Amino acid sequence: MTIQAEQGTTVTRFDAVVVGAGMVGASVAGLLAKAGMQVALVEAREKPLQLEGVAQALPAPRVSALTPVSQRLLNHLGAWPAMAARRITPYRYMQVWDAEGSGNIHFSADEAGTAVLGHIVENDVTLAALNAQLANLPTLTRLNGVRVSALQTSSKGRWLVLEDGRQLETPLLVAADGARSVLRELAGIEVAEESMGQEAVVTTVRCEHAHGATARQAFVSGSPLAFLPLTVDGDDRLCSIVWSVPPEQAARLESLAPQALGEDLGRAFDHRLGAVTVLDRAYRFALVQRHARRYVQEHFALVGDAAHSIHPLAGQGVNLGLMDAAVLAEEVVAAWRRGSPWGSLTILSRYERRRRPDNTAMLALMKGFKGLFGSQQPGLTLLRNVGMRGMNQWVPLKRLIMRQATGERGRLPSTCR
Ligand SMILES: Cc1cc2nc3c(=O)[nH]c(=O)nc-3n(C[C@H](O)[C@H](O)[C@H](O)COP(=O)(O)OP(=O)(O)OC[C@H]3O[C@@H](n4cnc5c(N)ncnc54)[C@H](O)[C@@H]3O)c2cc1C
Repeated sequence: MTIQAEQGTTVTRFDAVVVGAGMVGASVAGLLAKAGMQVALVEAREKPLQLEGVAQALPAPRVSALTPVSQRLLNHLGAWPAMAARRITPYRYMQVWDAEGSGNIHFSADEAGTAVLGHIVENDVTLAALNAQLANLPTLTRLNGVRVSALQTSSKGRWLVLEDGRQLETPLLVAADGARSVLRELAGIEVAEESMGQEAVVTTVRCEHAHGATARQAFVSGSPLAFLPLTVDGDDRLCSIVWSVPPEQAARLESLAPQALGEDLGRAFDHRLGAVTVLDRAYRFALVQRHARRYVQEHFALVGDAAHSIHPLAGQGVNLGLMDAAVLAEEVVAAWRRGSPWGSLTILSRYERRRRPDNTAMLALMKGFKGLFGSQQPGLTLLRNVGMRGMNQWVPLKRLIMRQATGERGRLPSTCR
């Protein structure tokens, strides 16, 4: 609804405004609009990514391991079939080992009692499939190529001014604008920030041997090196690499010629998939764990990386964000349907209470893993090797870990069950 404001400018009102149309923001906006709420989705990028432009030839450098729980949410949103038709790679096995010792652990979908442990999907494929679904929602308005320049509290909720002068007013503003969220800053929410002392080096490779639907990770001198399986047109020797290393090593890896990088990767990975041919350039991402001190204020909520960013070693970042999206939407839609003030602190605090413990536990776990595997102290090396070997033989404990890793934790929102 567009109304005339006192000072002569027009203000458009929405039931909810979501800022940031990454995978998490697009999911929140989709869930709210699917329920019938009037939603605006504001995004800095000029145009929404289209399905026609993705999954062509070489896989895009950014991929995510999506859990079966995230898959159910994306299926509820109608995006999964288009993703499956483009390019997804299921993995049924996981192998983790300590390159410095004898510790190793194997997981399988059969042991977990599930069809798959997850899927490796290019982020572009997920986003383009979500965009295709959002285009079918009549109550969703997309505002692309524009950022928020001011945020204020109004009698009706939050009042936003966009860079192009447009003004929006809403009882619920959702910030999904990523790890360096400007909205979080404008709202004055503090964030606990800790550099992981590592950067992720990401590239795509072809290996000598097939990946065998297995996600593999080695801890090499404390640096997690993942070979994530990708299958393109029946070629099952492709892998996406994520190697989290100290910044100086990241700079060195980036500067290597493809052949030298392939040799480094093959050696570090103990040649478990044979010789490695690098197919793309190396991309670098700084790794900083962040956790917002609060997720909500009156009429305001943070979701996804805007609320928390996490080390990628267990591939949980976007999965946590998608759970934020599902839980927030469940609480808000229920309140909206019964005519309660859906942007009130009471309603939004329910979202924070349901999501913060899970996110906090996962952030702490990643820090613990990094400390345990990053250490060269003989005592800790022995502990992790004995621990991994013991765990590998203890099936009930492995099953518990797999349930956690596949997202089956706590009370899931109805859209993910
Ligand atoms: C190397 C690496 C590997 C990873 N692997 C995995 C994995 O295997 N599994 C997993 O679950 N996670 C993984 N992650 C984490 C995952 O990529 C992130 O958690 C996820 O992309 C966050 O999504 P988001 O939608 O919250 O934020 P983003 O993807 O950052 O989206 C934010 C959006 O907001 C827009 N925006 C920003 N500022 C503004 C503004 N002021 N106004 C309007 N729009 C704005 C941006 O253009 C963008 O579209 C990995 C991360 C890294 C770095």
